[in-house]
Amino acid sequence: MALMITAECINCDVCEPECPNQAISMGEDFYQIDPNRCTECVGHFDEPQCVQVCPVECIPVDPAHIENHETLWQRYQRLQQAGQSLASAGPLVSPPAAG
Ligand code: SF4
Ligand code: SF4
Repeated sequence: MALMITAECINCDVCEPECPNQAISMGEDFYQIDPNRCTECVGHFDEPQCVQVCPVECIPVDPAHIENHETLWQRYQRLQQAGQSLASAGPLVSPPAAG
């Protein structure tokens, strides 16, 4: 399942850097999630990181993108492969700090 951000978003900027897939970006009025990049954090974390940090709980499952674990896993792998092909140009983000 891809997740989505609702109009209750207060644009606090907290979730965007937490997304391991760079799926979150500023939209016209509030933040948005690219369903082609959101794996519900499958492949990275046990829980969706954006949901964990959002102070107003405005990130539900997107009813237009109900997907099973296999689909999310395949997306994760596709994103990893795309990231590796970009790696020769340098990493996009620093790895998360340990601890
Ligand atoms: S669930 Fe994970 S992959 Fe999806 S937008 Fe949130 S942080 Fe990014
Ligand atoms: S953490 Fe929640 S309120 Fe803050 S920008 Fe993200 S979706 Fe909006």
